[in-house]
Amino acid sequence: MRVAALAGGVGGAKLASGLEAALPDGGLSVIVNTADDFELWGLHISPDLDTVMYTLAGIANPETGWGIKDETFDSLGMLGEYGEDTWFLLGDRDIATHVLRTERLKKGESLTAVTGGLSKALGIPSRVLPMSDERVSTMLDTPYGRLEFQEYFVRRGQRDEVLGVELRGIENSRPTGEVLEALSGAAAIVFCPSNPVVSIGPILAVPGMRDALADSSAPKVAVSPIIGGKALKGPADRMLSSLGHESAAAGVARMYAGLVDGMVIDRADEGERAGIEALGMRVLVTDAVMRDEADRARLAYEVLGFAEEISGSSGRSG
Ligand code: GDP
Ligand code: CA
Repeated sequence: MRVAALAGGVGGAKLASGLEAALPDGGLSVIVNTADDFELWGLHISPDLDTVMYTLAGIANPETGWGIKDETFDSLGMLGEYGEDTWFLLGDRDIATHVLRTERLKKGESLTAVTGGLSKALGIPSRVLPMSDERVSTMLDTPYGRLEFQEYFVRRGQRDEVLGVELRGIENSRPTGEVLEALSGAAAIVFCPSNPVVSIGPILAVPGMRDALADSSAPKVAVSPIIGGKALKGPADRMLSSLGHESAAAGVARMYAGLVDGMVIDRADEGERAGIEALGMRVLVTDAVMRDEADRARLAYEVLGFAEEISGSSGRSG
């Protein structure tokens, strides 16, 4: 069975690793947000691709969910000694990823090819696919002014209210051939529990992506990143509210209405079932919190079972 998953960083990577464990080697393609990519000291940094790669390679820092475990930060310390502002944490081993990515991009390789090479070297059996090879940059409007995504997220610690989102360059982006192939060949498509606005949002905004999803007859299921009205980590809940969405599993479902056939929600949100079903979606209520590896695999099995159930049931539209 071939599965395509849409993912951002930490939340997405957790379910992706569960899906990888639940599927035969090579069965999973992860389509990853690249709209928070940016440059620092000449290095091309792809935070969400790195989080997914490190997680699938089993080298992610389990405390943060991002970065590499047992990292050292000597290079960053030296940059600080030179007087540089070291607000974005880059570990010594992590820097090697960015050095190679930057060099290979400069030589003309696509981000898809570069990511494929790095993933292979890390022994990842799944395909880790940037949503697009073109550069897209998330810009956020806040009361403090317009902020680049990492300025908002890391430098200012997500403290600003997000009043608007611009995906700079999105109109010139397109899904890669690898992404289109992953979607058309998938027996199930999973929207991981990633931020619907700044992780899944940019993927869906790539021109042609929604059509590619609509063209696929595979069952599509989303796992809510919002549990009990709250994000488990990060600003997704506040972002949903300030942008006029509902910070609830049902609010996420509304954003995905017409795109997904089923929504996986936590037991804490059982009360939202009827409201989500009224959107024309099937609902699976389960424990949607992934505390450890066993949780990730268990949730992945449940998500795949749910997708199978949807594709097997009659009366499914599209
Ligand atoms: P980022 O790019 O690193 O910010 O990561 P994502 O966008 O992929 O994920 C952020 C979202 O993951 C947050 O909204 C969290 O609520 C969600 N999340 C993190 N861990 C879990 C989990 O165990 N279960 C669920 N359902 N959501 C999670
Ligand atoms: Ca991200």
